[in-house]
This record gives sequence, structure tokens and C-alpha cells, in this order.
Amino acid sequence: MAQIIDGKAISRQVREEIAAEVVSFKEKYNCAPGLAVVIVGNDPASQVYVRNKKRGCEEVGFYSESYELDESTTQEELNALVEKLNNDEKIHGILVQLPLPKHLNETEVLLRIKPEKDVDAFHPYNVGKIMIGNHDLLPCTPAGVMVLLEKSGIDVTGKKCVVIGRSNIVGKPMAMLLLHANGTVTVCHSKTQKLADICREADILVASIGKPEFVKGDMVKEGAVVVDVGINRLDSGKLVGDVAFSEVEPKASYITPVPGGVGPMTITMLLKNTLTAAKIAREK
Ligand code: NAP
Repeated sequence: MAQIIDGKAISRQVREEIAAEVVSFKEKYNCAPGLAVVIVGNDPASQVYVRNKKRGCEEVGFYSESYELDESTTQEELNALVEKLNNDEKIHGILVQLPLPKHLNETEVLLRIKPEKDVDAFHPYNVGKIMIGNHDLLPCTPAGVMVLLEKSGIDVTGKKCVVIGRSNIVGKPMAMLLLHANGTVTVCHSKTQKLADICREADILVASIGKPEFVKGDMVKEGAVVVDVGINRLDSGKLVGDVAFSEVEPKASYITPVPGGVGPMTITMLLKNTLTAAKIAREK
């Protein structure tokens, strides 16, 4: 039987730590860390994320602004808003909720966000800093996974780590953070051959594929730590991860559930990045 890594409890603990730091930040600088969230259009999932981010800000004592722009917003209008936020001293973190409507160029917008306010850590400058291990801001989901491992007392040093998925927001930075933590890392993707054999060698297996219950019991080594990043909504409405939990849980030593594992950490790490960005801005 695996120990369940309780993402909700760990997230709560990290938010309490952030809230305590915000109290000292306010005393020292007479202002609060500030986050601006920008959403364009009416995507219901994005609207839920934005609401949760706003609630997260309130919970830890941040100043926050949210901009809910019409679907028909032009590139120039969005660029101008980013520019305004770049120059606003109250704002230390800017988050543009993705995906953007098709007529808008995501890369152009993300490149315009000042790297020091890029609390999603998607700007190539921050991606490069992560690569060389000299980072201030970390991509939220992989950073959340590292905190879950750390708070669960799981040492990555020397461990065989297998990451399934190579996206820019999860798989690649996840692999990099595990490498920085001294893991021996293999990254798998849709063209990987003998995927199950590779997964079976993992001491730490991270699934970030986006395919419901893809990782089966026979793909996991006895005693492995299994981290499920996937969030998949079945036709029945049920939320499942990329790992077949009931098959894998009896073999794993630790496992993250879906929901309640990695998910709750992502916004918490966004708050942590905003606090980091605010401290750096103020200490300049
Ligand atoms: P993505 O951009 O679609 O990337 C999926 C990756 O999985 C790709 O690298 C793809 O390989 C690989 N893949 C797909 N089918 C595969 C197969 N049959 N065998 C091996 N690899 C395969 O997805 P993402 O943005 O990284 O997200 C992954 C999952 O995490 C999704 O369920 C998403 O909802 C979830 N997610 C959760 C959070 C959170 O807060 N918990 C945050 C972000 C994402 P190729 O590169 O070869 O196509």
C-alpha cells in the first residue's frame, strides 16, 4: 500500500508559509506583493483557474488585479495592457491565462512580459535560467511536484527518474528540476520505444501525458514513487489522472492522487513565484 501524498495539505502548509512572509514583507516595504491576471475570452476552464488564482491571492494577503477581456480583443490592445502592467510598480507578477483565442499570438504576448514579472516562468529568459540552474522563478507545476517530493521526505539524489511527457510547461522543466536535484533522468514521449520497460526501471515516475489512466500497474516497479500530473475529465464527468490509480497504488511506495495531488500545488507555486518576484523587485 502506498503512502498518499496529500497535495491539499501540503499546499495549505506552503500557503501558510507564504502568508507569514507576506506579513513581514508588508511591514518592511509598506505594500503587498501584487499579481495581475489577464484572461481573454470566455473559456469556462480558464475562468475557473482565474477565479482560483484571485482567491489564492486573497488568502495569502496579496494585492491582485484581474482583467477579463472580451474575445474580440486585438493583439495591440493585449500588448498595450501587458506594457502597462510591466510599468506598474504595484504589480510584481503578470499572468496571461492560456490558451488565448486563435487570432492572438501567444508567443508574442509572453515575450512582452518582463522576465522579472513572468511568474509562470514561460519567458525564454527564465527557461534559460532554469536550464543553467540559476533560477528565481520556476514553472509552477513542476516546482509544485518538487515541493511535494521534498515535503514527503523523498530524496531525489541518485534516483532513476522517468518523466513521461516533454511539453514546455510540464515535462521538460520537470526533467530539468529533477536533474538539478541530482536525479538520473529519462524523458519519454509519444515516439519512445519500449516505454513500459523504461517506466519499470523508475524509482520516481512522473506522468504528464494527458491520457486518462495511461500508466498501468505492470509499468511500475515495486516501491516506486509515482507522481501523476494528468488532469483528464471522462465523459462521465469523473476527473482522473494519467495513472491507473487502483492498479498502481498497491505497488507504489508513494503516490499522488487525482484530484488532490499535484493540482492544488500549481496555484500555490504561482503565489510563491509572485512573492519571490516582489522580494527581488523591492531588494533592487
Ligand atoms: P501536452 O502538451 O499535451 O504534452 C503531452 C506529452 O505527453 C507530450 O510530450 C507527448 O509526446 C506525450 N505523450 C502523448 N501521448 C503519449 C504516449 N502514448 N506515450 C508517451 N508519451 C505520450 O500536455 P501538458 O500540458 O504537458 O499536460 C500533461 C497533463 O498534465 C495533462 O493532463 C494536463 O491537463 C495536466 N496538467 C496538469 C497541471 C496541474 O496543475 N496539475 C498543469 C499542467 C498540465 P510528444 O511530445 O511526442 O507529442
